[in-house]
Amino acid sequence: MDTNRRNFLKVAGLSTLAGLGGTAVVDRLVTGAGMAQASTEAGHGAEHAAPAKAGANRYGMVIDIKKFYQDPSLGEKAIHACHQVHNVPNFQDKRDEIKWIWMTKFENAFPEKPNLYRDEATATNTLPILCNHCDNPPCVRACPTKATFRYEDGIIGMDYHRCIGCRFCMAACPYGSRSFNWRDPRPFIAHVNQDYPSRTRGVVEKCNFCVELVQAGKLPACVEAVSDSKALVFGNLNDPNSEIRKILKEAHTIQRNPSLGTLPSVFYIV
Ligand code: SF4
Repeated sequence: MDTNRRNFLKVAGLSTLAGLGGTAVVDRLVTGAGMAQASTEAGHGAEHAAPAKAGANRYGMVIDIKKFYQDPSLGEKAIHACHQVHNVPNFQDKRDEIKWIWMTKFENAFPEKPNLYRDEATATNTLPILCNHCDNPPCVRACPTKATFRYEDGIIGMDYHRCIGCRFCMAACPYGSRSFNWRDPRPFIAHVNQDYPSRTRGVVEKCNFCVELVQAGKLPACVEAVSDSKALVFGNLNDPNSEIRKILKEAHTIQRNPSLGTLPSVFYIV
């Protein structure tokens, strides 16, 4: 057993592995079966699991719900841009669907805010949801291999190499923000972006706030795709002069299921 594998098993914990299916899981680690081929995300693992340092950037997003209600094409543009950049497959069978950013009804996004007598726009339209890049992310704590980790800027990233497909993170995420590759996704990717890794069967994935673009000084693909409308605004929550902070100061915003204590970094203008 080489040093890397020994270290990995130390991190994962043999008891956890036994609970996940014993030798079958260890076999997957040894052979690499079901793992992603490559990751361009900066940083891998434990060193990124620490909370964001004071003074560091902390990224967040504001979503203006009414703009998506008024122009449903905004949602399509945002989803299309995200999926193209990140090689998200398009499965016809919804049971296999891989979700990074998707549209849903208000009552699905905000079950804590039921209203039997919704206005017509709320009752009939959809709004985008995605990983909330929580400040207190249960998915990071649940991952036995540190495949899910937190960057210093608050973005919750994934190292596909480390994912063993246990799906503990999926069980831990109260927002359903994660998807599991039940099938090989590659034949279902229309146009492969060579600058971002595709995944394999047996790996979990989710929105990564376009960390690879953000770290290069660019906006997330979805934000860029609808930039004229300002329906999505991305920025540094730690900067009181940032556009996102100004919006949060002026507009009434809500987060998804705040009572869970996950502290989402995605805010919705209602
Ligand atoms: Fe993790 Fe879910 Fe929060 Fe995203 S929304 S950081 S996957 S708990």
